[in-house]
Amino acid sequence: MPLPPAALPSPLTQVTDERLADAGVELWLKRDDLVHPTVPGNKWRKLAPNLAAAHQAGHSRVLSFGGAYSHHIRALATAAAGSGLASVGVIRGHELADAPRNWSLAGAEAAGMRLAFVTRADYRRLRATLDEPATRRELADRFGPCLVLPEGGSNGLAARGSAAISTELAAQLPGFGETARDVVCCAVGTGGTLAGVAAGAPPGVRVVGVAALAGGEGYLEREIEALHAAGWGRAFPNWRLDHTHHAGGYGRVPVPLAAFADDFARLHGLAVERRYVAKALRWVYATAGTEPLAPGTRVTLVVTGPPDPEPDQGLDPEPAPGSGAD
Ligand SMILES: *Cc1c(COP(=O)(O)O)cnc(C)c1O
Repeated sequence: MPLPPAALPSPLTQVTDERLADAGVELWLKRDDLVHPTVPGNKWRKLAPNLAAAHQAGHSRVLSFGGAYSHHIRALATAAAGSGLASVGVIRGHELADAPRNWSLAGAEAAGMRLAFVTRADYRRLRATLDEPATRRELADRFGPCLVLPEGGSNGLAARGSAAISTELAAQLPGFGETARDVVCCAVGTGGTLAGVAAGAPPGVRVVGVAALAGGEGYLEREIEALHAAGWGRAFPNWRLDHTHHAGGYGRVPVPLAAFADDFARLHGLAVERRYVAKALRWVYATAGTEPLAPGTRVTLVVTGPPDPEPDQGLDPEPAPGSGAD
């Protein structure tokens, strides 16, 4: 089945909210969750240029990495199938191989993806050595020649694809970046989206990434710097990360966060994805009225994806990247 085209630019909508108005802050939503029906949000932004590159390089197969509920793995499965490429998902957790498939992995498999379950130790090793020739040989020997995408699909091309979020905003928001009042905020998993949003933004815009995982201090900043080097060959000074709104770690959605998301949905009629988007949105509400969201600020939240079909099952606790713990 061919992939339906993306709906670009994604819509931009304003949220009218008393709490934010009292703090003197305007909130806009960049609705990337509506970009594509089966490859939603930032996943389409990141995958589209990579799949085009796979075709151009003559590949017939793509391979990537993710956890048991990875949005990226699910999106890759559909996107690859839709563009006529075979796909392999290397999944963290060999114990999952014989377990009944959760909805996310079942979806990937139904789209035609071959799943390969590896131990957490192997997963860490592959991730850490992904650019080494020995690892590429190992993957090619096991799965056949393929284009290899890192975890979350974040590489230079993916970051460049995500930069379109900011170029679209420049056409949608009058005076975007012309005064010091614009802040763009997005949730951060691997940092590919944030890297693109920062690189694509006009100089006056400040970009804040809200880490959805715990313990990423330093590590995530280095990843984003590496993505800037890979995508643009330079650094960008206009972004920073918040490491205090991960709500306990990747995949964790504690009751207060869920209640916050429910509240927002009730007030504004928009169900927000909880493992990433709700954390970034909560940062906006917690920060409104103080730096960097001082009174007079216009903040645009990138809604990086739609809610999970079964939000309460999206739990996939994992150790912080680079921590070595398991
Ligand atoms: C994958 C994902 C992210 C993380 O994006 P990165 O580019 O890996 O930082 C954020 N939000 C949603 C909804 C996602 O699915």
